[in-house]
Amino acid sequence: MAKVTLSYLSIFSTDRIPLRGLSYFSDILLACCKESRPTINQIIRHFGQSGLAIAQALTCQFANQLINENKLVYSFNSKLACARHLGYIHGDIKIRGSRNNNINYINTSNGEEFEQSAINTALREVYPDAIYIAQDFDGNPVWYKSSELKIKEGQAFLKPIGQTNLFTRPQGVIRFEEVKTTSEAKSIKLPRGVIELTPKICKISESVIGYKIYNRESRWTCPNRDCRNHNQSLASKLENCLICNSQITERDIIQLVEEVVHKEAFTISYSTSFLQVTIDRKAKSFFKSKVDKFRSKIKNQKYVSREKRELFEYNETDICIHSLAHQLMLALPLVEHGASSKDIDFILHEEPTQPNSFGYFFDTVEGGTGMCDTLFQYLEKAVSRARFLVEHCPCKHGCSNCTIIYRCPDDNTAISKQVGLSILQDLIQEQVQTL
Ligand SMILES: [Zn+2]
Ligand SMILES: [Zn+2]
Ligand SMILES: [Zn+2]
Repeated sequence: MAKVTLSYLSIFSTDRIPLRGLSYFSDILLACCKESRPTINQIIRHFGQSGLAIAQALTCQFANQLINENKLVYSFNSKLACARHLGYIHGDIKIRGSRNNNINYINTSNGEEFEQSAINTALREVYPDAIYIAQDFDGNPVWYKSSELKIKEGQAFLKPIGQTNLFTRPQGVIRFEEVKTTSEAKSIKLPRGVIELTPKICKISESVIGYKIYNRESRWTCPNRDCRNHNQSLASKLENCLICNSQITERDIIQLVEEVVHKEAFTISYSTSFLQVTIDRKAKSFFKSKVDKFRSKIKNQKYVSREKRELFEYNETDICIHSLAHQLMLALPLVEHGASSKDIDFILHEEPTQPNSFGYFFDTVEGGTGMCDTLFQYLEKAVSRARFLVEHCPCKHGCSNCTIIYRCPDDNTAISKQVGLSILQDLIQEQVQTL
């Protein structure tokens, strides 16, 4: 269940009250008081900032009503707390479970709803004609092709297809419009430089304008990048390449088959919590030397895996921040009970006019899921849990348990399990000092 904080309350208030109903609002207010114990003045100040007189008046009215009904009680220092007899009030609030926020994935062959996800995830996964891989009860892959995505109705229709080597990737844009900063930034100290995290609220608009279809094929081929036989299909009984004599290897070859542009873009917009990640110049140079070390280790190897090749193809800061971000998000369930790494996303953000690089963590639904907040609040714990998770994962190059996130808006490019782990280890040595 999502965590309800004061900042959550303020996003909610801006435009959702008429849509979600007043009783929902009082539930949110109770949950917020249970979680954060704000004073009534803090609550009012929050609404004051957004300049919403009606919301402000409503809050006062609701707070007073809830006090009269003994649902809210004053604790020390005039802080408002949720009355104990109400128990775990969060359970009554449907944030992820509401129609507004979720898309049900429906199997067209039997009408069964087999999965559910946030709208923004659905937009990236099940736009019309997308190939979607689900898992059956035994964990085996099942292939579907999306025939329709009805955002308003909260439904996606998927037709089961047989196993295929084809896969699709969405083409789109995500825009962020900052609404306000909700708290002071935290800085994480690196051996050189700092990473700064600033909690904010923003409006996100996400569009999918088309998609690309790829074919993934396993081939025996020459691994030598300078050879004409490189990536060409060779007979597996050959042991060495007939041109350059390199030992041939089996590799996954990915080729673009087609690029499709939708007649009309699919667009959604929502207001939610996000964490802006800022990397200063010193940190950038630290990241560069870190990635260079990894690069020099593999430079002279004849065969370099696709995962390792990425180290040469992307910017060092992107590799470091992106890998670290994925690993932190995947560790969230180990940080707080009920936290889900599905309720948060991360995207790299380049600002060409500025010396700093950025990334954004953002909650996946309107009003927020509380995951940015959890990450921000328990940053040190998240770092140590992520290190534990990645260190103990038996995979070689990063898997969906420790590093890869399939719905990643950057399509898992500029990702390295080992680079991310190495930064996590540095951070532990620095004891994640928050300045
Ligand atoms: Zn060759
Ligand atoms: Zn792994
Ligand atoms: Zn990503």
